[in-house]
Amino acid sequence: MEGLDRALKRMPATRNAKERFVIPSPKVFYEGKTTVLDNFAGIADILDRDPDHLMKFLLQEMGTAGKIEGHRGVFQGRFSEEAIARQIESYFDEYVVCSECKLPDTHLIKSDRVLMLKCDACGAHRPVKKRKAKAAVQKDLIEEGETYELRIESVGNRGDGIAKVDKFLIFIPGTVKGEVVRAKVKKINGTLAFAELVERKGKA
Ligand SMILES: [Zn+2]
Repeated sequence: MEGLDRALKRMPATRNAKERFVIPSPKVFYEGKTTVLDNFAGIADILDRDPDHLMKFLLQEMGTAGKIEGHRGVFQGRFSEEAIARQIESYFDEYVVCSECKLPDTHLIKSDRVLMLKCDACGAHRPVKKRKAKAAVQKDLIEEGETYELRIESVGNRGDGIAKVDKFLIFIPGTVKGEVVRAKVKKINGTLAFAELVERKGKA
């Protein structure tokens, strides 16, 4: 039964006519200082793309940390429904829709380490552009006294791990590049923040 329900639910997303393909609207709510995208898995499903790939794109574009939790996407900071919808649209333009025939019947392939979008409808293929990260409008992204899940992206002169969230550089002593940690922000000075390691979550 569940399989049938699922199949029926997918029906509106049948991808043989541009007019009939609708990017689902994000269902967004807030939990504390996080934004929850409740229909994250459904969106990835309808776009027919790997949820991890979609999540990676959203985190990069939104300039924040976050993760997939079951069918939901959870993001640090508060983002409006419109801001998230805009990111999903750019994902669609970049990684889903064929630029030749405008149909979404495509798949991603790696060719000579270049990611290509190949159209199943017309056979066209194009390389996927490398995107520059840009942050969506948000507020209260990082606050003193709060704990965040962060990925250490680099190491500072004094050996402290550094995470980046939007415009903030967060220094976390005792961490190494590539690991994901929970850290409590002790002090913010302009766009520099200093945090204390709370828990190691592993390697990203
Ligand atoms: Zn095409």
